[in-house]
Amino acid sequence: MHGDGLPEASRVQQELKELAKVAEGDLKDAGSREKIEATRVHFLGKKGLVSKILRQMGDLPAAERPSIGLVANEVRDRIEALIDEGIARLENAQRDLVLLESIDVTLPGRRQRMGAKHPLTQTIEKIQDVLKGLGFDLAFGPEIEHDFYNFEALNVPAHHPAREMQDTFYVDRDVMLRTHTSPVQIRGMLALKEPPMRIASVGRVYRRDQDVTHSPVFHQVEGLFVDDKVTFADLKGTLASFVSQVFSPTARIRLRPSYFPFTEPSAEVDMSCFACDGQGCRLCKNTGFIEILGAGMIDPEVFKAVNLDPEKVSGFAFGIGVERVAMLKYGISDIRLFYENDLRFLEQF
Ligand SMILES: [Zn+2]
Repeated sequence: MHGDGLPEASRVQQELKELAKVAEGDLKDAGSREKIEATRVHFLGKKGLVSKILRQMGDLPAAERPSIGLVANEVRDRIEALIDEGIARLENAQRDLVLLESIDVTLPGRRQRMGAKHPLTQTIEKIQDVLKGLGFDLAFGPEIEHDFYNFEALNVPAHHPAREMQDTFYVDRDVMLRTHTSPVQIRGMLALKEPPMRIASVGRVYRRDQDVTHSPVFHQVEGLFVDDKVTFADLKGTLASFVSQVFSPTARIRLRPSYFPFTEPSAEVDMSCFACDGQGCRLCKNTGFIEILGAGMIDPEVFKAVNLDPEKVSGFAFGIGVERVAMLKYGISDIRLFYENDLRFLEQF
């Protein structure tokens, strides 16, 4: 029994460890539950190899038995773990097979619904692109404004009848939701160090007004150009280019005298009807023209309010309602459709 030179206990321990290795090799390739079960019986069964080795313990001195028992337990645990792993591997393979059979890779895929930009966003982006192309920088300002920026500096002092033109949402006596984007121009001119300045502001404005063509919240775009020798011809040229790019290359404009407190002279700007090209139709009420925006040369009083000398600088401003542009462009008759978020409406753009 001492042929290999090892003490008897070490030899038994070595045999047990060898068994674990053999079992590992057998279980690694086991392709069926039956094969795994057979391996279990072969190693761990009552007449299995582990038991057989343990039976030799009777020949060993009592003092050496506990250390053998320890190794025997380790080997049994190891083989049982290998058996569990083998079973799990078989079950996974089985599940993959079932999945593979149930997925028909030749079926067409599910169509993903694509979102799109809101028609107002599309209109704002178009207008911004055109104005940027005309040399305007984008400018932004707060939607809650002080009286000075919204009215006072724009030549609309307290009790001025022009305040009647705009029904205002007041936050308190001197603070309001801005009624137009013009305060952004005031802020721009106050910060102006040296002309020229070309800015365009786009944003939400608020008025107490609601029907099929008016919403209490709507969007305005305003352009402002300040330099030393700006003329009405510059304004007209800019507007002609703006309208032809936003609406139609053949669109013509027509200016009619008007009144705004912050411009002098002021003009309402019409464009030739894009539906009938000026021939007269229902859209333009047979006039051949559609009113599209307001514009004018900046009033000297406005320059004084922002500390610019009206003898040295001149400029023009124009303002346009985004909703109105979008309604004309897309033939929409009710402004409220823009805010209802009805997908049947929005998906058409
Ligand atoms: Zn028309």
